[in-house]
Formats: sequence, structure tokens, C-alpha cells
Amino acid sequence: MNAPFDKIILGDIVTTETILKSGYVALRGETIAAIGQGAPPPAGETLDHSGKLVLPGLVDGHMHTSSALGWAGIENASRSAAAGGVTTCCDMPYDIPAPVTNADLLAQKIKVVNATSHVDMALYGTILKTGGVPAIPDLAAAGISAFKLSTYEYDPVRFPRIDHPTMVAAFAEIATTGLPVAIHNEDQELVERLTAEAKAAGRTDPIMHCRTRPPLAESMADLEIFEIGLQTGAHVHIAHSSLARGFEIAEVFRRMGGASGFNATGEACIQYLCMTEEDVVRLKGKGKCNPPFRTAAEVELMWEALVAGKVQYVSTDHAPWPIERKLLDDIFACGAGLTGLQSFAPLMFTLLDERGLSVTMMATYCAERSAKMHGLWPKKGAIRVGSDADLVVLECGKFTFDEAEIQDLPNLRWSPYHGRPMRARVAATYLRGSCIWDGRQVLATPGSGRFVPRQAR
Ligand SMILES: [Zn+2]
Repeated sequence: MNAPFDKIILGDIVTTETILKSGYVALRGETIAAIGQGAPPPAGETLDHSGKLVLPGLVDGHMHTSSALGWAGIENASRSAAAGGVTTCCDMPYDIPAPVTNADLLAQKIKVVNATSHVDMALYGTILKTGGVPAIPDLAAAGISAFKLSTYEYDPVRFPRIDHPTMVAAFAEIATTGLPVAIHNEDQELVERLTAEAKAAGRTDPIMHCRTRPPLAESMADLEIFEIGLQTGAHVHIAHSSLARGFEIAEVFRRMGGASGFNATGEACIQYLCMTEEDVVRLKGKGKCNPPFRTAAEVELMWEALVAGKVQYVSTDHAPWPIERKLLDDIFACGAGLTGLQSFAPLMFTLLDERGLSVTMMATYCAERSAKMHGLWPKKGAIRVGSDADLVVLECGKFTFDEAEIQDLPNLRWSPYHGRPMRARVAATYLRGSCIWDGRQVLATPGSGRFVPRQAR
């Protein structure tokens, strides 16, 4: 007779390939030990989610816990991740007061993650505006999942623009580590000139956010980063493409191939699959993010790119600015970034369902592919024997997203999706076999989550 399993989770099991109706996932300890359909084997405990969907816990490949509050933001952002079905966050390095630019700072951040996070967390590293290239090998060796650099400067220390010669040197060094480098892709000169002209004309209303960051600002940046990637052999990744054109450009560069290790990929944040310029007008500061929302026609092109498999993965770019930073009359004075962790799983399910697309695409684009790019798969992002038992359980039905339910600090409980009809809710989230969200409250405690180093170069 088989050794009994510790836990059995019953439900309709969603993988990237198929949906196992009336299936089960059997766990030993923190790990998936069996997957099947029909009568489940004996186990110490049975968790019955029959009639609900059981997916791999989402791997959000792009979010910011610490842009506004510093590392103190990790604790509460990870609570909203648990409630949103996200079991692994890949956190960006642009933290105040000091971004993650060397192995010492990374070690300090890892300690904070291990002490305070409610979900598992991979970490990006970055470089100083000047003199940062020599720190690249140590950051890679210390387990970061990817590098992040920017063509656009928000702040010379926290979020600097890396100039072209430095970017060439950095990409060449990153290429030797085998890690990808994600790039914030906006052309500084174009955006600055257009913004100055708008301000001079007295136009600080919401739509001017879109007008001062036109598609050209994005595609110009895409071209230069891929050219440098082709030259240096690095895997260059557009951190967020709001344009289907970004994925086409990536595809063209992939075809050109070239130097060993060269790759060109791009990511779609979920907002670019559903939000439009009209939403910026409606939401004002709460609809401001960079790149901005585009037209409804562009959203359709984004879906074509996703369905065609051209998008590497879908992320949230969660960047929870305190609400007081979003309610300013001058759109240029508002913080850029949206909350999105807690709405991630319900919204992705809803968008797929509204278009008649399979929920298996959520397992592919919000778990497997992000985990693969960050070197975490198959430990993360998979329902497979041997993978961490990270699972999200979705209950289908008619729901409405309510920002008041966001599991974060009071002034971070706002959402661009407030009031949006949702076709599913997160009924439970499991992190390495433990229930961390039961559909009503976060059961994880600070430190339930762990730092996850990149598993493979
Ligand atoms: Zn971001």
C-alpha cells in the first residue's frame, strides 16, 4: 500500500495543458507528490474544493513592494498577494532609500523578506547610475532572479536612467551571468519635452499623461535596448509593453538571433489587457501608470499578441502609492503605478472568461512562463510532482471587486478596478501546502514567506 499523503486538495485541477475535472493534488510536506482524477488516495487531511478551480499559485514577475515605504512595504503588500492568489512575487529593486545595487543590500533585503513576507519572493537587482557594473556578478551569484535597468529616470538614486555606454557595459556583464535584464522602456527626451510643453500650455489634466508618453516614446526605447542586447548577447526583456508592437519588435530581434545567450522578450501587465485612455480620464491619478493606458484598439492588438504566444508573461506591476499621492489635481504630480496584487487572479480569470478563452492560459501566462523567466520553474509556477505545493483556488460566480477589502495598510486600499464585476474570487491560497488565505482572511504570518533564489542560470 502507498504511504499515505499528508494532504489531498480536491477540485478541478488547471494546468497549462488541461483541466482535470474532479481531480486532486496530493501533498507530502510542502511538495506536490501526486496529481490525479477520480477517487483520491488516503491522506492525513482532505481539503475539499470540489467544483472550484485549482491552479498553480500565481508568480507575479513584476511588482514593487518598497517604492513608497521602503522594505516595510514587503509585509503588507505580501498580504494582498496572498489574498490575490499570488504565491511568489518577483520584487523590483527600486526601493527607498537604497535600491538593491550590491550583494550586501540584497542580503539585508533577503533578511527582511524572510522575517516579514507572507508569500515567497524572488528579487531583482539593479545597478547604480554610475560605477555599478562591477557589482553585477556578485548580485547574480547571490541569487537574484533578474536584473532591472531603466532608459527613463524617475530619481537619480532610487530609479536612475542608465546612459547608453553604461548600458552596453552592463548588458555585456549581465550576459556572462546568464540572467535576463528587464528594462523600463520610455524615451526620456521625448517625454520630458512633451511634458514641459503640456505644462507650459497649462494642461495638467489626466489625458495629458497619455499624450506626453506616446507610443513612440516606448517603441524607441524598445529598439535601443534590443540593439544593445544583440550586440552584447544578453537576454533583454521589455518590463512592460503597453503596445502589441513591443512584442513584434521582440520577435524580429529573436529571429535575428546572433550572439550566444541573446534573447528578446516582453511582458504585458494586466492593465494593458483591459484599461484604455478613457479610464485615465475617469480614474485620474488612480489610473496613472507608466507606460500609460492606450486605446481600445490597442487592447485588442495586445490580446492578439497574447493568444499568438508572443507575450512572455502577464504581470501586475503592482506599485502601491499611498492614496494621497494619487488624488492630486495635477496629473504630473501624481505617483505613477497601480495596485494590482489582490485583483490579479480574479481579474485575469474574468478577462479570459469574457473573451471565451481557457483558464489554462492563466496557468501559462501568470505562473509557468513568469517562473521560467525568473529561473524558478518547476519549483514554482507548476502543478507537477516535485513542485512546491503553491495553489490558488478560484470560485466562479458573480462578484464585484471592492477596494475596501484590500489586505494592506489603510491608505493603500485603493484600486483602479474598484467596482468592476468579476467572474471569480480567490476562495483559498496555499503556499507550500499551508493555507495562507481562506477566502476571508490572511492566515499567513509575517515570515511565512521565504526568499526564493534563482534555481538555474
Ligand atoms: Zn514596474
